[in-house]
Amino acid sequence: MKMKAAVMYGPSDIRHEDVERPACPEDGLIINVRAIGLCGSDIRNLTTDSKKGKYPHIYGHEVVGEVVEIGAKAETDLKIGDNIYVYPGEHCMKCYYCRTGHHEMCVLGASYNDRMGGFADYYEVTARQLATDAIYKIPEGQSLIAATLAEPLSSVYACEDNINVGFGDTVVIIGAGPIGCFMIRLAKLRGAEKVIMIELNETRLELAKRFGADYYINGSECDPVEEVKKITGGVGADKVISANPSTQSQNTALYMCKKNGIVVWFGGVAKGSMAEIDSNYAHYNGIWIYGHFGANSIQVQRAFELALSDKFDANMFITHVLPLSKINEGIELTRSGEAIKVVLIPNEELNKDLLPQG
Ligand SMILES: [Zn+2]
Ligand SMILES: [Zn+2]
Repeated sequence: MKMKAAVMYGPSDIRHEDVERPACPEDGLIINVRAIGLCGSDIRNLTTDSKKGKYPHIYGHEVVGEVVEIGAKAETDLKIGDNIYVYPGEHCMKCYYCRTGHHEMCVLGASYNDRMGGFADYYEVTARQLATDAIYKIPEGQSLIAATLAEPLSSVYACEDNINVGFGDTVVIIGAGPIGCFMIRLAKLRGAEKVIMIELNETRLELAKRFGADYYINGSECDPVEEVKKITGGVGADKVISANPSTQSQNTALYMCKKNGIVVWFGGVAKGSMAEIDSNYAHYNGIWIYGHFGANSIQVQRAFELALSDKFDANMFITHVLPLSKINEGIELTRSGEAIKVVLIPNEELNKDLLPQG
């Protein structure tokens, strides 16, 4: 049987075309992908030679779908018609890290980018995913589109949880992509006193204004370090989060931080690139540098609940809902800063109800 998928043939060569529909594994299941988020990391992978020539490939990992087929030997309580969010990680639950509560650091699990992803009409859920904590049933009446935010939000939730953003904090966020916007919203929900957003792209900065940071600074028009110092009475911020792919920003973050404050390197940078770091500055000012990645299972669960909650208001972040066939448009809208978060809808006919009218 055939289905449509957004197939990558090389950097920025993505074609919406017919491919073989995955067969239902005996011990797994098949979902009709109802909605899938377009992630910054997907865009990086789709526009660079991420597979080193090994194409065609299908990316996509912020998957929400409806169970349409269940393997005869699948161990699950799920039923046909259930809507689920699939956390993409396939951790083992056996290695040292999994056993100590940190499945985000699993050393035996599979990488989701090595298998066929969800930019397709149908997606295969494996036995391992069913056996671990990767499946989240979406309660009746909740938005499937909002649920796609659970995955990107999990890592943001984990970051602010781990550095304990909270009451009284001044937090600087560098980068107003979707992650930076989540960061603002969550920092305010957690009670941060002042949230300062720094961004170079004016369109993006304007869009981010709806999330309620206390200060918005265009870093291309002034010295953002000076501005942070001004706002904090010369002290610097308690916590500075670099949420963008620039190594330079990882270093600049140090100068915005107060003595004994925390700098987070959240955003991944281009593979192999090395940052030039003023290590003496970090040393003499007692700065804690924290490289953040992923989320543990408690945080994945909490982020899922948050994505569906009224107080988070997912719709504020999702600026574009497009059919999967317009994935290239979605990439452009995100890159230019016109879109905050793009959600794609595969299987246009079946999922008509999720696409905007007209
Ligand atoms: Zn993602
Ligand atoms: Zn593991």
